[in-house]
Amino acid sequence: MDLQGKTALVTGSTSGIGLGIARALAGQGMRLIFNGLATPEQEETVRGELTERSGQTALYWEADLRLGAELLPALHDLGPVDVLVNNAGIQHTAPIEEFPPERWESVLALNLSAAFYTIHALLPAMNQRGWGRIINVASAHGLVASVHKAAYVAAKHGLLGLTKVVALEQAGRGVTCNALCPGWVLTPLVQQQIEARAVQEGISLETARHDLLLEKQPSGHFTTVEQLGQWAVFLCSPACDNVTGTSLPVDGGWTAR
Ligand code: NAD
Repeated sequence: MDLQGKTALVTGSTSGIGLGIARALAGQGMRLIFNGLATPEQEETVRGELTERSGQTALYWEADLRLGAELLPALHDLGPVDVLVNNAGIQHTAPIEEFPPERWESVLALNLSAAFYTIHALLPAMNQRGWGRIINVASAHGLVASVHKAAYVAAKHGLLGLTKVVALEQAGRGVTCNALCPGWVLTPLVQQQIEARAVQEGISLETARHDLLLEKQPSGHFTTVEQLGQWAVFLCSPACDNVTGTSLPVDGGWTAR
């Protein structure tokens, strides 16, 4: 596989799954453009780590990806991107009748619309070069639902639809578009849900973590950010030249039930 010297943009890569994927791609010698809502200290740490891994200076794209069409000029300024990973995402849980409308808008803007804007802006350069990989980080919640996650489940189902349309439009042109569908991964996004559950149910963090896992994920193990990084590398390999439009569960059996 020759990813050496190619450029990858990974959104939401200052933490969690995005950082795991950015590290794995940097390990293949790719130049990384990383993004997220980072403190200056986080920015420096991530830049240093990705630069060291890849041997090429990593670039921080500081942008709140909920801004919709306002993102387009900055996206065009990034230059050609060979591998685009749409990963940035947030969660909010509440029954639908109590779901704050502004939270609905935010989750949809980041978890779904941002992927439309990045693909819209960056696809033409992939087509010019005759090669590209688009990887959308969806979720088991792109395939099945859970209560109290109206916005998240709607956005992730939408992201799988977007993945399929882009795959069909690009078929045979050297650009593939696939989605990863992780189950539980122990990142800050999930840690917040474990803490909320512990408070709500008056149980320890350990019990809350155990219950959260076993309720959905038959394996009883979290998927790791390193495993998802390896999936991203695999999707960029020649073995996946003819893999497009797929939704790949990495979920310990969650969606097999
Ligand atoms: P995380 O909270 O650890 O990381 C989220 C990243 O997105 C951070 O870099 C953060 O700075 C960035 N971000 C947040 N708001 C942003 C904004 N407005 N603009 C730009 N960047 C922003 O979360 P994570 O668990 O690593 O989740 C990453 C993706 O994986 C999300 O799309 C999430 O839905 C998906 N996912 C996570 C799990 C899980 O169990 N953790 C499971 C399935 C899918």
